[in-house]
Amino acid sequence: MLPEVENLLVIQHRDQKIRSLDRELANLPREEAELRERVEDDQAAVDQIKSELQELEVAMKNLELDIETRRDSITKLKTQQYETKKNDEFRAMGDEIERYGKEITSLEDDELELMEKAEEVKTRLKEAEARLAETTGDFEDELSDLKESKVNLEKERAELVESRTKYSEKVDEDMLDVYDRLFNGKDGIGIVGLIDEVCQGCHMKVVKSTTVAVKMEKEIAYCENCGRILYWWTDETDRVVAQYE
Ligand SMILES: [Zn+2]
Repeated sequence: MLPEVENLLVIQHRDQKIRSLDRELANLPREEAELRERVEDDQAAVDQIKSELQELEVAMKNLELDIETRRDSITKLKTQQYETKKNDEFRAMGDEIERYGKEITSLEDDELELMEKAEEVKTRLKEAEARLAETTGDFEDELSDLKESKVNLEKERAELVESRTKYSEKVDEDMLDVYDRLFNGKDGIGIVGLIDEVCQGCHMKVVKSTTVAVKMEKEIAYCENCGRILYWWTDETDRVVAQYE
């Protein structure tokens, strides 16, 4: 293998790793936002159920007041009933007492219904609060995990950049420019193996003279289809590159 090819393969290996680390790093803020969103959503659910419960409590209180008013009226009417001497007045008051009584029964039915609803809402509130407590508890852990990953990824990246610089100093500057352009323009593959006369970058068969040039390993050869730098691939070349991992 040409020393230039070997160096370029190591550089490409570093570049590909740096690229994937950059993707992971770029994802971290979104992951953090998702963690915060989860807590906010669970908090919003708790708030929503609490206000539902509050509305029910207000409605029950109002019913309670309505019932109380009617009970007072009945008490008053009963007193008046004993004070009156007129039969028709007595009867009219009796009718009114009966009407209030029926209204109280109906209001008490409504109240009972609201009480049952409130029980159901309280159960939901308990569940939502438990969920919120869990999410909030996990939040700090997951946030510190994210911060730790960021530190590790950045450290790994710095090491790769340092190593990349070391190897790039061994490669001719113009050659490195060509490789850089290819790597950035061709999906992160600037240098690629030739296997059975086929360029593994564009998967096209190259012409005979290219195959010969690649196999000779006298100078750098290129794929005439995609322009990528080619090298003669064997199991051995993989082993050579693997030792730089
Ligand atoms: Zn090609």
